[in-house]
Amino acid sequence: MSTYFISDLHLCESEPHLTALFHHFITDVASDAQTLYILGDFFQAWVGDDIKTDFVERIINTLKARHEQGTLIYFMHGNRDFLLGKHFANACGGSLINDPSVITLHGERYLLSHGDVFCTDDKAYQRYRSIARMRWLQTLFLMLPKKLRLNIASRMRQYSREQFAKQRDTKDLSDAKWEAIVETLDQQTCDRIIHGHTHKPTIHISPNNPTYRRWVLSDWGEQGHYLKIADNGQITMQYFSL
Ligand code: MN
Repeated sequence: MSTYFISDLHLCESEPHLTALFHHFITDVASDAQTLYILGDFFQAWVGDDIKTDFVERIINTLKARHEQGTLIYFMHGNRDFLLGKHFANACGGSLINDPSVITLHGERYLLSHGDVFCTDDKAYQRYRSIARMRWLQTLFLMLPKKLRLNIASRMRQYSREQFAKQRDTKDLSDAKWEAIVETLDQQTCDRIIHGHTHKPTIHISPNNPTYRRWVLSDWGEQGHYLKIADNGQITMQYFSL
């Protein structure tokens, strides 16, 4: 029995390859999963649990089947799917966890996070994040008609693509900063963190204090990516394909 971590799948209806990859991951790759943590940006966009499509139903059914075979499933919000709610999580047989959360596995404490909160160089994004995460604003947004919500989401994706293109030409603001990570790790008395978001998959070791380590998950594309902590505590990060 193993624990699996995935993030940044960016599932969407227009990318059936990703959905197929996810189905393969759940039914074959992670069939021995005791616990599965989905650390954010599971979906490319999410504007309310009440927007039900065949695509969403298929994802729910895939996860529900795994849950019924005994896997515990936890969702954390990412910067794209932070409106994912209890309704969706429960339909999958899973539950939502906070960002950050701490888990203990084989005597080691691990801080889990999506990771965007640590990209502190990107001041404009952090300002947007603090506004977008206001509960009352989210409640208001979710009261808007479905069509309008979908429209706003697609405009925001367009805007974020443009911002990304601009940033690429100037300076890379999109990496997580060790200073911000270490501060949170110290608060939570951890020295290990697993996160996604930055799309820079590797094991990073703090240049100032090598006891601090972070495992960064990749986004999914042609290949999927996961981190697995086996029964004996062994950690592996692995790409896979169909
Ligand atoms: Mn992200």
